[in-house]
Amino acid sequence: MKYRLDNDMHCHTHLSLCSGDPAQTAEAVVRFAEEHGYAVQCITDHLWDEEGLPGAPEWYARQDIAHVRSDLPLPRSDKVRVVFGCETEMNAQGVVGVHPSHFGLFDFIVIPPNHFHMEHVRDKAVYNTEKKVADYLVERLEAIGRMDLPFYKVGIAHINCSLIMSEGDQFRVYDLVDEGRYRAAMRTLADKGAGIELNAASFVGTPKEKMPSALRLFRMAKEEGCRFYLASDAHHPAALGNILRIGDVIDALGLTEDDKFRLA
Ligand SMILES: [Zn+2]
Ligand SMILES: [Zn+2]
Repeated sequence: MKYRLDNDMHCHTHLSLCSGDPAQTAEAVVRFAEEHGYAVQCITDHLWDEEGLPGAPEWYARQDIAHVRSDLPLPRSDKVRVVFGCETEMNAQGVVGVHPSHFGLFDFIVIPPNHFHMEHVRDKAVYNTEKKVADYLVERLEAIGRMDLPFYKVGIAHINCSLIMSEGDQFRVYDLVDEGRYRAAMRTLADKGAGIELNAASFVGTPKEKMPSALRLFRMAKEEGCRFYLASDAHHPAALGNILRIGDVIDALGLTEDDKFRLA
């Protein structure tokens, strides 16, 4: 059966500093999920676990464990499975911003490999060409695969992301990703059970003629056995529906329900 657009595993609320929208409440997110027949809705505000990992990058300083947990308890629903997660960070030193002692606080942990607009994630003086950025992306996917993480509840966020190289051409970066190394990294992540994200916001913003470059990375991931979850990555209510606009991506990748990442 064709992959159903019935999950949103990466979605922000007003608690994320880049949202701050009083209308973007967990209640509004869950209501939307109910109205559209989702099976699962995850709330993932930005997090750097200052308690376990001192020295948060400045932007994250106020987005700590206590901050994201102020969303709790999440609204209950008898229609949708509502789960609590976070979108953490991976800094330039390769540290992921959730201390292992806190893995248990989350049902799902989204790790973005490529918040490359942030200086504490990418040294822009070093990774300053599309090829170097492409290689850095693969290095970081390899590094995640080597970490001691609860992969059954880990998602790899937006491998295609407009923030990957704002001073360059994001699609050229995807074209330049080394096939052999990328496939090996994705095979490792597939074997360990991590989910790979189809970020609706990224796909909806992709011009049609650039779609093959973005899809290239996911085609290879599928061939290496990866399973996929969906993400609105919404920061405002109007963006929640982007999930429902990526049927063309599902068709292009030929995804079925067997390709779906599912939380235990
Ligand atoms: Zn992100
Ligand atoms: Zn996000």
